Parts: sequence; structure tokens; C-alpha cells
Amino acid sequence: MVRSYFEKSDSWENTELKVLKHYKSIMAGEREPRYKFIKSFPVDFDPEADFDQLQLIHSQTKEDFAVHFGEGDLSLQKIPFHQSYLGLKAELVTRIVQECFLCERNCGVNRLENELGVCNVPKEMILSTAFLHMGEEPPLVPSGTIFFYGCTFKCVFCQNYDISQKWRVASRRINRVSPQELAVIARELHKKGARNINYVGGDPTSHLMGIIKSLEFFDSSVSLLWNSNMGLSDLAMELIVDLFDLWLPDFKYGNNECGKKFSLFGDYFDVVARNLKKIYEKGSKETIIRHLIMPNHVNCCSKPILEWISENVPVNLVNVMGQYRPQFKVPLDERYSEINRRPTFEEIEEVRNYATELGLKWKSVS
Ligand code: SF4
Repeated sequence: MVRSYFEKSDSWENTELKVLKHYKSIMAGEREPRYKFIKSFPVDFDPEADFDQLQLIHSQTKEDFAVHFGEGDLSLQKIPFHQSYLGLKAELVTRIVQECFLCERNCGVNRLENELGVCNVPKEMILSTAFLHMGEEPPLVPSGTIFFYGCTFKCVFCQNYDISQKWRVASRRINRVSPQELAVIARELHKKGARNINYVGGDPTSHLMGIIKSLEFFDSSVSLLWNSNMGLSDLAMELIVDLFDLWLPDFKYGNNECGKKFSLFGDYFDVVARNLKKIYEKGSKETIIRHLIMPNHVNCCSKPILEWISENVPVNLVNVMGQYRPQFKVPLDERYSEINRRPTFEEIEEVRNYATELGLKWKSVS
């Protein structure tokens, strides 16, 4: 068993971290993670029903579940998967990937027929690696991190480009996993001492069908963590917003233009802001937003993002990250010369001072 940073220190006494109270209770064995209640919550639906009907039942069930979850009167019970709220989510996500709109790229391809969209991910999950990650934010380590291939963004500076963009689905070396196999991997990570199961990539969005289905075979009492670029479609967000206990979203650009230029993703700011707000309004609120400070982007990106957070999701923790490095396409292409250096000490200080000025909670996780 690996001992975590937090077992060895009194860092949980940091008042900023009080917002992670449910996560802490789950670690202490005083609470169960959300997915277990969702798996125990009965819902009457016909798997043959059309998409709109299923979506309507899902919306109604979500409201019902939220009331009971908030009142703490839910109990764990074993019910057939296809009569559970989780089973309904699995059915809906299976419909979505048949005209894929898991993310706002909205490719419309039938992933069940192995048609490929922008992310290049077929119907199966493709795993790069899974291990106890000690490099995440202090409250999260050791984090049972599962890295998937493929990404819905095309960041020109990606440090994980070998698993996010520069890979081929036809390669024999890639590791396809079933939902059952993913559940075994997650269980092993928890047994080894993982404080959470951390789904990341690339980006986990393209693998959402397999991730949801894997929970049928998983029963460990551990928090589930969604670690993502947050380019999900509105309906994909509706499916997961009450499922994950912890959130580790990126928020890079303070406007749509910079998102388009450096991640080749239209409406970046609008989509990510919408999704973060949904978590805040309908989800666990136990969120650490990661903001990567980019050189020359303090005024157009960092400051507007911090302002947005303080106005819209003020309870969230913020990791104000200074470790940007020019990688992948940036050193090779003149179009990206403005971000072809590290942020200066002064830029990092300016952003962090601004976070303090706005009253954001950033010191315990940065
Ligand atoms: S998940 Fe992949 S295939 Fe689906 S809409 Fe997004 S980029 Fe396209």
C-alpha cells in the first residue's frame, strides 16, 4: 500500500481543501461514491425506446436522483443493470456514439461500426497505461490514473502528443480493453492504494461508452475523477455530471479565438464555461480547475478565466500552472511563435497575484 502525501502531513487542515469534503469522506470509508448509488437507483425504461424518450426519462430521473442524493436517503441495493439509472446512461451513450456527438466536434460517425471521427478512437477503449500517479495535485495522490489514447482537441503544444494525436488505430501495439477489463484495472489500482480512479488521456471523452459500461463490473469504494479538456457535448455532460465525485478540468483560453488557434477547437470558451457551470450547478462542486499560463496570454486568457471563475464557480479550487513548455508543433511553426517560450517569472507572478486579488482558492493545489 502506498502512503499518500496527505497521510504524512497535516495538509487536510488547509481551509481551502474543505471543499473536497465528500472526497475525503469517501477516502475515510464514511461515504460511498456516487456511481454506486446511481447503479442502485431503479428506473423503468424500455431499452428499445427512441432516443428522445430515453433522454426525457434520463432528465426526470436525474432530478429525482438529485433530490434523494441531497437528502441522503439512498441505499445501496443490487438491481439488474438494465433497470438502473446507470443502465439508462449506458443505453443513451451507446446511442450517442452511433452518430457520435460525445464532444462538440459533433462528427456524426457511427463508432459502433468503427467509423472514425476527429479523435480517431474506434468503438473499443484504447489504453496507453495505468498506474499510481504521484505527480497530480497533492490532495489527489496517489491517483489511480488511466491514460486513454486519442483526444478531441488538437493542441499544437501538447506534451502527450504521442498518445493524443500522433498514433494510429491500425497499430498492433495499441491495447484495446473491454469494460470488464477496465473494471479489473481500476480495482487493482484501488487495491494498490489509489485515492481515486482518474480517467484521462489524451482525453477520456471519446471512451465514455466503455467507461460507463465498466462501472457495471466495478464495486470498489473509491472516488471517480473526470480529468478532461471539457470539450464534451451538452448531452454527454448531462450523462456524467452526477456520476463523478471529483473533477479535474482544464481551462486554458479566455476566449474562443485562442482556443481555435492553438487547440483547433471552435467555441472553446463557450463550451468549457458551459460545462464547468453545469458541474457547479448539478454536480459535486469538488473541482480543481487547471489553468496553464501561456506566454503572452496573460491578458487575453489567464485574467479573463480567473475573473470568470470568481464570478461563476467561486468555490472551485484552481491550479494556476506555470509549467508550460513549447513542445510538439510550436517550435517548428512560425504561426505559433508567440507561445514559443516558457512563461516568465513575472507573468506567472502576475497571474497568481491576480488569483489572490480575486479571492480564488489556488495555493493548496498549485
Ligand atoms: S468523440 Fe471523437 S468521434 Fe465523437 S464527436 Fe468527438 S471527436 Fe468526433
